[in-house]
Amino acid sequence: MKLLLDCRALAKLLSQSHDHAPPLAIQARMRLHLITCRACRNVDEQMRFVRKAMQAVRVNPPTDLPAANQNR
Ligand SMILES: [Zn+2]
Repeated sequence: MKLLLDCRALAKLLSQSHDHAPPLAIQARMRLHLITCRACRNVDEQMRFVRKAMQAVRVNPPTDLPAANQNR
């Protein structure tokens, strides 16, 4: 097992980690990669932003949109 993750492996783990927290050893490897890789930090920030936006929409759905199933 390699100590350092490559960017592709990290992106996959980032995506999965939002549903299920990975083991601590994997989290440590992810953090180590994020410390050293600006591109993956950007990907992580973008994923967090999108997730936060989706949660906000679920909590406060827009009221000015027509209901999807009305009059069909
Ligand atoms: Zn990377």
